[in-house]
Amino acid sequence: MTTPAAFIAVGSELLRTQRTDTNSLLAARLLRGRGFRLVEKRCVEDDEAAVAEAVASLAGRVGLVIVSGGLGPTADDVTREGVARALGVGIHRFPPLEEALAARYRALGREVPTFALKMADIIEGAEILPNPRGTAPGQLLVSGDMTVVLLPGVPVEFETILTRHLLPRWPVEEGTVRVLRLAGVYESQVEARVAPLYERFGREHVTILASRGLVDLVLEAAGEGACRRMSDMEEAFVAAAGADLYGVDDVTLAGALLATLRQRGWRLAVAESCTGGSVGARVTAEAGASEVFIGGVVAYSNALKAQLLGVDPRLVEEHGAVSQPVAEAMAAGALRLGAECAVAVTGIAGPGGGSEAKPVGTVHLAALTPTGRRHEVFTFPGDRAAVREWATNMALDLLRRCVVGG
Ligand code: ATP
Repeated sequence: MTTPAAFIAVGSELLRTQRTDTNSLLAARLLRGRGFRLVEKRCVEDDEAAVAEAVASLAGRVGLVIVSGGLGPTADDVTREGVARALGVGIHRFPPLEEALAARYRALGREVPTFALKMADIIEGAEILPNPRGTAPGQLLVSGDMTVVLLPGVPVEFETILTRHLLPRWPVEEGTVRVLRLAGVYESQVEARVAPLYERFGREHVTILASRGLVDLVLEAAGEGACRRMSDMEEAFVAAAGADLYGVDDVTLAGALLATLRQRGWRLAVAESCTGGSVGARVTAEAGASEVFIGGVVAYSNALKAQLLGVDPRLVEEHGAVSQPVAEAMAAGALRLGAECAVAVTGIAGPGGGSEAKPVGTVHLAALTPTGRRHEVFTFPGDRAAVREWATNMALDLLRRCVVGG
């Protein structure tokens, strides 16, 4: 059985354009598989009544509420007051915290301002959650069936307190969540393939998340027999995913590609045009990339494609820079940099540059390995950023398939 949980982000800036609420994502990730299911999240203004209303509205509906932000020293930090009002309890100043605050300020050569002492205010009955990264501590209180946790909004403080003081109380339920990572496939194709499994395992235990060439299949099992059910589920969904599966849980596409190349003892070079280096960036974001990745060329102009990659200008003239022959010639040029494997990307990211024959989004990819070669052409949807991201993901995946499949 999982307990429904809710998240309240307090901060007027989170409702405007200045800041994005990322703490809720972190909380959702950390709570996953620990007996909680995040069923609701909200952003509210720095306003006592708004905080109180948000907390009160959750009573009887959830077992855990995490409230983030609004614990600082300034007048707009009113989370303590809002939560206390919602639960109908008082607030008192806690002298040891007051002293700790004064000592902290003294260490910085300053007197603690009177207004800052409100960070030593504790809601009646709350447990203090020490904050080694900042000044305002977190607080935890139990009210009826509901546990309310107050944490500072500063992301590093939020994460530290959550990780140190709360997660140890909520042990991981083994094998309750598994993420199967797929690439080079559309969400609808995955849905069609796994739909027959819903009846057996329950539609509510499967989530499909697609993002420009990458599809995550999130499998969840909870309660008694969860490990057993997860293992059956995983087996069935892995079989349905087939060759589109590149990894499980925290594996990235570039990481999976590098691991496969490392196993074979092959080095990699890239030749990029419309992606402007993002394939190389993704590869080098992985620790240990240097064992496999030798480098690449960003050849945007036709002149550089010829000069640095040896692409015959006649190919460009005859077929255009965005074409199969040019993509393949770019990959061959990258191989000559001294690698066994190469991938090349040439395309039209837009918004200009498209034509009827080659609309915006047209991208040619070519991959070469000692045992195989592949080419694909796509018309990716979306704006410039979307096309470039699609192209990057699909280029990494094309090479992965070429390496694995020979
Ligand atoms: P402080 O002691 O700094 O006042 P606080 O608990 O009062 O801590 P806020 O003042 O609400 O926290 O926010 C501090 C910083 O953390 C701000 O830069 C804010 O934008 C950021 N922040 C607050 N809430 C979130 C959130 N949910 N996600 C990401 N950043 C956040």
